[in-house]
Amino acid sequence: MSLSALIDDVAPTAVELRHELHAHPELSFEEFETAERVVEQLRKMPNLDIQTGIAKTGVMATLNGDRGGPCVLLRCELDALPMQEESDLPYRSTVDGKMHACGHDGHMACLLGAARVLSEMGDDIPGCIKFVFQPAEEGYGGGKVMIEEGILDHPKVDAAFALHGWPYLPLGVVGVHAGPTMASADFFDVTIQGQGTHAAYPHRGNDPVVIGAQIIQAAQTIVTRATDPLDSAVISITQFHAGTAHNVIPERAKLTGTIRTLREPVRNATLARFEQLARSIAESFGATLEIEWGGGYPVLVNDAACVDLVKDVAHATLGAERVAADMRASMGGEDFAYFAQAVPSAFWRLGVATQDAAAQPTLHQPNYDFPDEAVATGIRMHCELALEYIKRHAR
Ligand SMILES: [Zn+2]
Ligand SMILES: [Zn+2]
Repeated sequence: MSLSALIDDVAPTAVELRHELHAHPELSFEEFETAERVVEQLRKMPNLDIQTGIAKTGVMATLNGDRGGPCVLLRCELDALPMQEESDLPYRSTVDGKMHACGHDGHMACLLGAARVLSEMGDDIPGCIKFVFQPAEEGYGGGKVMIEEGILDHPKVDAAFALHGWPYLPLGVVGVHAGPTMASADFFDVTIQGQGTHAAYPHRGNDPVVIGAQIIQAAQTIVTRATDPLDSAVISITQFHAGTAHNVIPERAKLTGTIRTLREPVRNATLARFEQLARSIAESFGATLEIEWGGGYPVLVNDAACVDLVKDVAHATLGAERVAADMRASMGGEDFAYFAQAVPSAFWRLGVATQDAAAQPTLHQPNYDFPDEAVATGIRMHCELALEYIKRHAR
């Protein structure tokens, strides 16, 4: 059977599977049933060596692990988000407060479809392909843990590719570009410890609410005054908690938020400057400040040769009109960044917009849904990328 015929054959099953996965979302590092569903499918395919329980719930299936040719890794994510789905879909989430709002159900369906096609072609492929289903992409770095547990070795991975559905591109259009493509993502929890007092006698304390307000204002000057205008940085303060009453100045205030950048030196400078500024503002008012850092995804830097391969494959299989010419970086974070730090990689975007921009649900919105129509294109791109990489790097 030709590649196209094989893809036509597997796409309807992949779509059905997506619906099933969409209806049963699980959160980061708890994707036990999701991993089971994935493994159940992989076990039906020939020529695969399946490993489970990597980074707790991660799964990897290796095709032709002992063949000795080039080795390509294709990656998708297992986890959903802690949010309530708002949709009338027949396959909407059956779990209160959890949903696949980042489309990882669609990514799994595309990769399982590709695994089925490529595993059936197994003997004819002069190289190795690793299909990676990683846990905990949404802030907990499951990909990093899988790498620490050795998925890039035995055989050694030469290049890695990952697809993400992109609601800012028209359906079926591929977007990719070289260099920094997703931002570093650091989270902070700041606690300002002041002196509480009666609201009518503010001079008897030092008000952590006023100190917090100063920190919020001053933080934006790091972006506008301390960062090279040709670099990118975002500081967003997303929570400010303090106090219990109208007439009590509290003793403590908490701020949380995130910092995003597109270059590691800018990231380091922005984090250091934020901490220094917040601490010195608190101290100048006689308060103390504690700061805890979390998250920590590095900048995702796409390899130029891998990006060229994605573009070439998209041109050849989808046509020039379905390759976005003006793709830009995003300030979103992605733990595929850890793969890209370890091996030449490309994180590419598959357009999933089925409506005009104003009406189109975007990532992490309660009505986002990876469209069925994109699944076959995702399968096709995965297959062609792996085959073309192996062909170009034949030993
Ligand atoms: Zn997400
Ligand atoms: Zn995602």
